[in-house]
Parts: sequence; C-alpha cells; structure tokens
Amino acid sequence: YEAKSEGVSYRFFSEELTERARERIELGAELRQALAGEELALHFQPQVDLDSGRWIGLEALLRWPHPRRGPISPGRFIPVAERTGLMCQLGAWVLQRACRQYQTLLDAGQDWGRLAINITAPELADPTFVERVMRTLEETGLAAERLELEITESLLVNTDERIIERLDALRRHGVRVAVDDFGTGYSALSYLKDLPVDRLKIDRSFIDNVDQPSRGATITRAILALGQSLELEVIAEGIETEAQRRTLQEAGCLQGQGFFLARPAPLEQLRPPDPAP
Ligand code: C2E
Ligand code: MG
Ligand code: MG
Ligand code: MG
Repeated sequence: YEAKSEGVSYRFFSEELTERARERIELGAELRQALAGEELALHFQPQVDLDSGRWIGLEALLRWPHPRRGPISPGRFIPVAERTGLMCQLGAWVLQRACRQYQTLLDAGQDWGRLAINITAPELADPTFVERVMRTLEETGLAAERLELEITESLLVNTDERIIERLDALRRHGVRVAVDDFGTGYSALSYLKDLPVDRLKIDRSFIDNVDQPSRGATITRAILALGQSLELEVIAEGIETEAQRRTLQEAGCLQGQGFFLARPAPLEQLRPPDPAP
C-alpha cells in the first residue's frame, strides 16, 4: 500500500531508514576491524583543581581516525558498538590500554592523579565485569585507588540490583565511581545517597551559561549544594572560558574539566602547567 499523496515521503523515509541501518552495519564491521588492527587510539583530558590549576586526574577518551571517512566521534561509534555486540570487547581494550599507558607514565615519575574511564551498559551487564577490571589492574600494575569508572546517570537510576552490586564490589576493592553527565538523566537526588558513587560530573549543558543568570547556573549551584550535603566530590565538565571557570570557582566548585583548562590529547603530548611560584 502506498497512498498517492504520501508516496513520496513514505518512500523517502524508508530509504533513509535503510540507509541508516546499512551505515550502522558497515560501521560496525569496520569498527571490528579497526579494533583488531589497532587503528583506534586513546586521548586523555586532564581534570583540574580549580584553585591551584593542578592536574588531579585524566579521562581516557577513545578516538577512531578512520582511514577513509576521517575521524569518527565516539558519540557516533559507541552506540554502534553497543548495538552490534562489540562494546565489551571495545571497553576491555580501552581499559587495558589506558591502565597500561598511565602506569607507564607513573613508573616514569609523572603523577597526574586518577585515571577516569567511561563505562557503558553492556559492560556493566557482563557478570564477569568486576573480575575483568580487577584482572586488568593486576596485569597492568595500576592501583585500584587510581581508577575511576564514569557511568551515566540513567544507567544508575532504577537499574538492575546486580549492577549496583557490581559497582559496590569494585568500590570495596578501592575503585571509584563517578556519575557522568549528571543532571541530564532522571536525577536520583535523595536516592543518590544509597548508590555506590563518589563523584558527580555536572553535565556540560549546564556549564554553557553558568556565568550568566540562567537555568544552567541555578542547576549547577543546586548540584554543588547536593554534592556537599551528600559528601560527594563534584567536577564541572565542558569549561570553555575563563568566565565560566571563575564563576564555578566562586560558587565553590573545586574541580573542572574542559577545553579552556586542557584539551584531550595523546598521553605523550600532554604538558602539565608550570607549578605556581
Ligand atoms: P563524556 O564522557 O561526557 O566526555 C566528555 C566529552 O566532552 C568528550 O567528547 C570531550 O572531548 C568533550 N569535551 C571536553 N571538554 C570540552 C569542552 O570544553 N567543550 C566541549 N564542547 N566539549 C568538551 P568525546 O571524546 O567526543 O566523547 C563523547 C562521549 O563519548 C563521552 O562523553 C563518552 O560518553 C563517550 N566516550 C568517549 N570515549 C569513550 C570510551 O573510551 N568508552 C566509552 N564507553 N565511552 C566513551
Ligand atoms: Mg566521561
Ligand atoms: Mg561527561
Ligand atoms: Mg558529557
């Protein structure tokens, strides 16, 4: 059935869908090859103490410099990995590689605090996740206290009891848990105190207008107050200007991350700021 007046848009819509489905399948296959062929890379973005400017951590961010299509952003290929069953393998690669690279740096006498790694739903759903993380730490020599797992808020709220138990087990080993993109899911608020988390990352969308009277500024202050009363660390992500940095510092935010402070880069290209005189 194809109504005359709807024909054009119907056909257009279904062609677009097929196009997208095909692209996803293609991209999934290429991602599998890229992973096997070591075509993926990690960048690291410093996390900064806003008062001293000192680096207190690094977040590992996956990069795919596609030989034909050019760089593909993780915002595009991570969902593909999740839907094509590749996420656990990809996540394991990131964990291994990031821990090993950072431990090499520590061995060379550089210490930039913690290592933060993004974790997705399929990884947390894996019953062997805790074991895999602990084994990677053992193999790479990185201390559990160095590692922080970033998990988005929607994954923590109303989630499977077994996922909460896995995070609890990791925390008992010393691994920390941060809530990424905080404020964009269904904020857990009072329930937050029962969740196995150590740190909130205020989502970038609230930081955009934080230096002006705005909803973002109001929500940011509320999250800072919430963190303080629940005794959770709070870090602001996506700081792009000095005005945003100063506003956050004056509001009592101790930690930040963003292009204004330091851009993500390969580990060997990161240069920490000179120590304050
Ligand atoms: P995220 O974990 O919230 O990471 C922060 C993103 O914001 C990164 O984008 C980073 O490059 C970007 N960013 C940092 N500072 C600024 C800033 O000042 N302004 C703006 N506009 N952006 C800034 P990226 O690397 O494209 O990653 C996007 C998302 O993809 C990440 O969001 C994370 O959810 C996911 N991702 C990246 N790498 C990995 C990974 O290794 N594993 C998993 N599971 N997810 C990853
Ligand atoms: Mg993150
Ligand atoms: Mg984030
Ligand atoms: Mg984000």
